[in-house]
Amino acid sequence: MQGIVLKEGAPWCNRHSMGHKVFDNRSVCIGCVEEMAEENEIRGHKLLEETRNILSVADLKKLNDYLQMSSLDLGRRQPFCFVRLLATEALLSNTSVGGIMRKIRKERSISEILPSTFV
Ligand SMILES: [Zn+2]
Repeated sequence: MQGIVLKEGAPWCNRHSMGHKVFDNRSVCIGCVEEMAEENEIRGHKLLEETRNILSVADLKKLNDYLQMSSLDLGRRQPFCFVRLLATEALLSNTSVGGIMRKIRKERSISEILPSTFV
């Protein structure tokens, strides 16, 4: 995991006029995450099914635990919570939802993407 080292406080998103949320040494604008998640919501069910089919039993359990919590938290269905997770990682890594899916397909793992409390 690499990213911006934050020395002067969190970066600012001019488009959403809000400060970034900081994850370890990386940061992301939650407004930008929400936007990308909404744009990709329609693909959520398909991408989640695909991911569930390639994960190990251990990773699958972690993903399901995460989605259950996230769904309660956000009041949204699990496929949306999944694309929101993908969007968060995509923006943290300067890539797209498709880019993160390629990584999941290649590694057959989701451990690097889930928040550290779930891995
Ligand atoms: Zn933003």
